[in-house]
Parts: sequence; structure tokens; C-alpha cells
Amino acid sequence: MSDTRNLKIAIIGAGASGMMALIKLRDAGISDVTIFEKADSLGGTWRDNRYPGITCDVPSMAYRYSFAPNAEWSHVCAPGPEILDYLKRVAAEHDLERDIRYGHEVLSADYADGQWHITTSKGDEGRFDAVLAAAGVLHHPAYPDIEGLDSFAGEMFHTARWPHDASLKGKRVGVIGTGSTATQITGAVVDEVAHYALFQRTAQWILPLANDPIPEEQREAYRANPALLEEEYERLSLEQTATFAAAVVGENPRAYAALERYCREHLELVKDPALKTKLTPDYKVGCKRLIMSGNFYQAIQKPNAELVTDGIERIEPEGVRTKDGRLHALDVLVLATGFDAHKIMSPMQVTGRNGKRLDATWEVAQEAYLAVTIPDFPNWFMIGGPNSPVGNFSWLQTAELQFGYALKLIEMLRDGQAREIAPKQEALRAFNDAVRAKMPDTVWASGCRSWYMDKHGHVASWPWTFDKFKADMQAPVLADYEIA
Ligand code: NAP
Repeated sequence: MSDTRNLKIAIIGAGASGMMALIKLRDAGISDVTIFEKADSLGGTWRDNRYPGITCDVPSMAYRYSFAPNAEWSHVCAPGPEILDYLKRVAAEHDLERDIRYGHEVLSADYADGQWHITTSKGDEGRFDAVLAAAGVLHHPAYPDIEGLDSFAGEMFHTARWPHDASLKGKRVGVIGTGSTATQITGAVVDEVAHYALFQRTAQWILPLANDPIPEEQREAYRANPALLEEEYERLSLEQTATFAAAVVGENPRAYAALERYCREHLELVKDPALKTKLTPDYKVGCKRLIMSGNFYQAIQKPNAELVTDGIERIEPEGVRTKDGRLHALDVLVLATGFDAHKIMSPMQVTGRNGKRLDATWEVAQEAYLAVTIPDFPNWFMIGGPNSPVGNFSWLQTAELQFGYALKLIEMLRDGQAREIAPKQEALRAFNDAVRAKMPDTVWASGCRSWYMDKHGHVASWPWTFDKFKADMQAPVLADYEIA
């Protein structure tokens, strides 16, 4: 151990992944770590998304760090503010904020002489031996390209920029989009608004989800016996891996048939045949990210709710004009139009070995080796890189596995076994060829458009089982790396 180095590490982003990386680096004895966070508080997506009805659609017992079991979730799927509170509590318990630089947006990272030189919006931050990029996947709001959008005279905002003081009570509200976000908002607000118009471009499959409260006695039992929490976590993980996660990648046809059946039966809640037809997708269940809801179909059938499918012609000061010529007069227009999931790390300028620019490299194809590393970008590790498992998994579980993989390489840097580690070009090629070969088996490639797809039409998710992901993340295959 005489060659051990004191590594200086930068983490980009103080969301759930960056926080976890800081905790685990400290646990590994690496203490010179700084998180650069562009916002003024932690929590990432759970800080940014505070729309009414926001709820995790992964069971809460599976949505937690392995090192921070939580007996306090109020519901089977926890409301967003509870998750943010959980993250804040973990941060406080680990005194994370002493190593977080808020208001520091990373503008550039340049590799030279074995180190990454980082510049943030606050200036030159110096050199780092390794970088963990944890800047989030669903981070950049996507605004719709609709004529007249800025002419709307009422209140208009994207769901990820929900104003703290917004009130929808008694108003005429329009929501554009029918993804997970819009679905959750619909159930949450329909009873308080005067009129609710949901502008649907594409119908969605919805899996029924009864989000029951977790009774206080149950929580008390979890507090008294944390092993129960662990058992529940294991049970949910095994169930998810064997059924849903295997079904969507074509590895469990029986589970897939069951998913389809549940969704079709769920649709039977819609009584009006015309409305049911409008709400019936023309693509396979799970092709777009499957939505979970226990109240959407009930909500959209309320007398003050309307599903608008005529297509938006333009936005006018008074509201939304649809292609049939009708003006839908509105007081509030909500853009539930999702995120640009392929702007990972954008607009940061990342320049690797020999002046190689990441944006130019990814312009051709957004590829990484095993979703974590990139040739010519040595000692740069990603959590949530291209082809990460971004389906309906617990992101916290995925992120910990990716970090565990990166840590093994970082420890080689620390222990003097390497100064520079980057995957070989052949390894990247072989991995991405395998991704492309497997993707047609998945339901995501079965003929719909979704945020999983990049602009080249490539699906940027993990096309194999979650078990394979876990196995691949156990230890790097060093033969696939250039180690200097
Ligand atoms: P999304 O799934 O990408 O949905 C965006 C919606 O906006 C789609 O219905 C899309 O229609 C529509 N849209 C976009 N541009 C449009 C335009 N110009 N005109 C009309 N409609 C337009 O976004 P999201 O609902 O925010 O969800 C994104 C992801 O966030 C989810 O899939 C999920 O991974 C995550 N999420 C998770 C939770 C959770 O509980 N864990 C909750 C919310 C979100 P098309 O389908 O026709 O493109």
C-alpha cells in the first residue's frame, strides 16, 4: 500500500446518485471529494419536481439506499416530498453539505496530464484525479414546439418548474401531455379545478396501482425489527427482477402477457366507449414507459374533465386552439411534456484525451461502455450514462450498482495500480453492438416513440435482465480497459 495516493475527486450533481457517491467514497477512505451542484439545494429530480400528486411509482420499500433503510414511508409508493425529506435526512446524518458547493454549475471539464481541470460558474476549481458525473437523466425540461406558446396570457409552466405559489383552485386548467407526470397531476387536481382539459397526443397504457397507506403498526414493526424492512426489500427486488424487468426485455413472455392483461382490464374502468377508444394505445404495453396509476381513469371521467385528442393547432392568449378549430379557453396551461433525456451532462463542455470533445463524440452516437465509462475520457465515471437501466427500476439501486463498479476502478487509481483508466474502443464497440443486437427483443423497440429513444432512433436503455446488469456491475473486466 506504499503507492497509495490521496485522490481528489469531483462529483457533478447533488441528486440521489451524487449524494450516494460522496457517502460511499468517504466509506472507502477517500475523503477529498467535492460535489458541484448548480442549484442551491440537494435532491435533484425530487427537488425539481413538486407538482401536485407527485409520487414515486416504484414501491418505496425498494426505493432507498442500501445503507439507509427507511421505516417511515407513509404509502406503498411514497409521495415526492417524503422522498426529498428522506434524501435531506440522509445528507444531514452523513454531514454531506460540508462537501457540496451549491450554485456551482460545471461549465467545462478538460483532461490533461492525468487530471481533470474543472471550471464552474464560480470560476476555476482546480484539478481532480477522477470525476463522477451524476447530473441526472430526466433533468432538462422539454418544451413543446407549438406555435404561439409564448403568447398565452394566463399562467403557464413546465411540470418540473411548478411555482411554489401556484393555485389551480376553481380555475380552467389545461395540461399538455399524457406521461407519468400528467397522469399523476390529473388524479390530484381534477376535483379542485373548474374545468380540466388534458391534451393527449398519444394514448398510454396504465397499470393499476392501488397506493395504500402503510399503517402506523406496520411502520412500528419495521422500526422495531429492521430485518423486516430488508426482507420486504429483497422480496420486491426479486419480484420486480423476475417479472416486470424480465418481461420488458423479452425474457418472460408469461409475465408480459400478465402485464398486458392487467392494463387491458384496467381500461375497462372507462365506461364511455368513445372515450375508451381514445384512451386505447395502438402500440404494445410497456413500449413507452409504463404508467402506474390508481386514479387516472376515474379522474378523466369526472364531469369537469375532458380528454382532448384533436391535436393542437396553436396556443393563443386565451387558450389552446385545436385542429378542429375549437378554442379551449384556459386560465392555467401546464406543460407536462417531459424531459430531454439525451442531454446527459449538457451543456457542460467535456474534453478528453487529445482534445476529444464529448459533445462531438456523442453527436454521432451517445455511447458508453457498460453505461459507465467512455474511451478517451480517462478516470471519468458516469452514474446514469447512456444505456443505464432506466425502466421502471429503483434508480437508487441502479445507481449504487454503477457506483460500485466505478469504485473498483477508482480504487486502482488510489492504490497506485493505475494513473489512467479508460475503456478500449473495441470494448465500447462490442458492448454497443451487443446492445443493438439485443434491443429488438425488447418491448421499447416494438414500434412507438418514447423518451428512451435518442434522435437517431436508438433506445438508450439496458436491453438485458436486471440480473445481468447486477452481474456486469460486480467487477470490471480489466482486459476491456487501457490501464496506464
Ligand atoms: P413523458 O413520459 O416524456 O411524457 C411527455 C408527454 O408530453 C407525452 O404524452 C408526449 O406525447 C407529450 N408531448 C410532448 N411534446 C408534445 C407536443 N409538442 N404536443 C403534444 N404533446 C406533447 O414525460 P413525463 O410524464 O414527465 O415522464 C417522464 C419520465 O419521468 C417518466 O417516464 C418516468 O420515468 C419519470 N417519472 C417518474 C415518476 C415516478 O413516479 N417515479 C413520475 C413522473 C415521471 P407523445 O407520447 O405523443 O410523445
